[in-house]
Amino acid sequence: MQDQLRRAGLDGVHAKLLAGQRLDFDDGMRLYRTPELTAVGYLANLVRERRSGARTYYVRNLHVNYTNICNKFCKFCSFYAAPNSTDGKGYVLTPEEAAARVAQYAGEPIREIHMVAGINPKLPYLYYLDLLRAVKATRPDAQIKAFTMIELAQIARAARRPLAEILPELKAAGLAACPGGGAEVFSDRVHEELFRAKLDNQGWFDVARAVHAAGIPSNATLLYGHIETQDEKVRHLLHIRELQDETVGFMCFVPLAFDPSNTELTHLPVTTGYANLREIAIARLLLDNFPHVKAFWIMITPAVAQMALWYGADDIDGTVSHYEITHALGTTSHRQVLNTEQLLDLITEVGREPVERDALYNVMGEPRAESRESRVEGRGAAAEGRIGTWG
Ligand code: SF4
Repeated sequence: MQDQLRRAGLDGVHAKLLAGQRLDFDDGMRLYRTPELTAVGYLANLVRERRSGARTYYVRNLHVNYTNICNKFCKFCSFYAAPNSTDGKGYVLTPEEAAARVAQYAGEPIREIHMVAGINPKLPYLYYLDLLRAVKATRPDAQIKAFTMIELAQIARAARRPLAEILPELKAAGLAACPGGGAEVFSDRVHEELFRAKLDNQGWFDVARAVHAAGIPSNATLLYGHIETQDEKVRHLLHIRELQDETVGFMCFVPLAFDPSNTELTHLPVTTGYANLREIAIARLLLDNFPHVKAFWIMITPAVAQMALWYGADDIDGTVSHYEITHALGTTSHRQVLNTEQLLDLITEVGREPVERDALYNVMGEPRAESRESRVEGRGAAAEGRIGTWG
């Protein structure tokens, strides 16, 4: 491996990692420029195993997208319906309808309810409180991870009050954590080109800072595979690392692969497995203060997510019932739901140890260390924890 690291120009990065030193911008660029992906993966795996050993976190979760109406018109999005469109595609779930959707899974051991949506300017502040309360009342045993930084900025606008003032109210209504979406790429150029109407980069940081100050942990993301450059991605990661140094409020980093299907950017190719593994590995290497890096299987496919467990990822997300955003993208080749057995098989087949978590990374029960073979042998007609089928 030493020869390969030298050939890849990564022997200096390796030395820094062994010495416990922080990587810098130039190191990030080296990691992007080398074609030797296995060398990058080797280094990311060193960090992954130093932090998490063989442990791979997963969660039994449910997604609820409470509205698709949105006035931000991001070019990379095909989920939204314009506020005044008459094509009948726009919807808003009432709090009762959202709760009824959650109630359909009453018999399932859901730990996390992930709720995100479009930026619907007609929803009043009380709607968001009622939504949280209704969902929480339906599943008091599950944690609600909801609202991107963009949604939170809109909720404060609807309330006509400072965000710091309303966050304790959202928390009291049931908000346990926030997902990391909406960050996209922290580049003024990309913001102007692809998501001009959305909260700007500084705004995203201000909201994240307020969320963490309110004692609400969150994730952070990077949307890659569109018009961003390598140096923009490195700067994005270093900005997020800097904020984490300040707030220590991020739990997990989630690289999100852009899927151009049915967007304004259909001329762009889909990301490759090679690119997806590289993004995960580089995130693990540069974000030395993030506890976890996620391989979001629904976007990169279960097969690549499984490989990512050796390229820096220690989290594979969850069983994911009702993921409407990728459905809207038209990625019918992607599986949308995994049952628990299938998720465990993905993890154990590559020699990793499944650990069930909740939305806050509290470990649920004992780690499941048995092999795929032993589970297959012991598997009865009814698969334990079954939530859905292959999509
Ligand atoms: S990405 Fe989010 S903010 Fe942008 S158009 Fe889609 S739903 Fe709206």
